[in-house]
Amino acid sequence: MEKKVIANVHGKVVNVVIRETASFLKTSHYSYGQIYISCPFSTSIVTIEKYLNRVYTEKIIQKFPNEFLYGKDFCYVLGEKRRLIRPFSYQIPEKKDLIVRNDEELQKKLEKFALDIFTSRVHFYEKEMKTYSHQVKITTMSAARGKNYIRKKLLTFHWELIHFSVYLLDAIVIHELSHDFVPNHSKKFYEILYRFCPDYDERLKKITFGVKQ
Ligand SMILES: [Zn+2]
Repeated sequence: MEKKVIANVHGKVVNVVIRETASFLKTSHYSYGQIYISCPFSTSIVTIEKYLNRVYTEKIIQKFPNEFLYGKDFCYVLGEKRRLIRPFSYQIPEKKDLIVRNDEELQKKLEKFALDIFTSRVHFYEKEMKTYSHQVKITTMSAARGKNYIRKKLLTFHWELIHFSVYLLDAIVIHELSHDFVPNHSKKFYEILYRFCPDYDERLKKITFGVKQ
């Protein structure tokens, strides 16, 4: 289970995704321009803010985006800002709007988009990189952006990557497919990765700090 809250860290408003655990503030990391923490849902926002102010420097927090990946009435999909509209609302939907009843329905829709786009990008780069074909799945709970289960010929990708442009997503696809040739993160691995994605580091940095394109 996940819960999203907004916290004030070093005077900046940051999106925080809480993953429920029984223990008190166990782990924390950041990705997609938001902070992920593990703690009980009952933890107060004051406690969370105190913890985040202690763990993260102001310099890091300043790199976080001023605009989130999603809000009450918008959501970024493939790097493009889309309006969220409730069914039967007074608003007249336009072609690009997303009509969703609630957050769960939005997430389901985004997971479906993510599966479609990752499957097609994987198949494109399988040919480009001359490797075998894979099954593709979308994960919601894993902290990893992507994972290559080499023996199963299975690739998994985190659903929240769907907020970013295809150009940025491709970096994650190329990273995972490079593991077909080298399973670890050795120098040899990065040689292959940079051959197909020379600006990998810049693309990854954008994803980490929530830059959508
Ligand atoms: Zn890797």
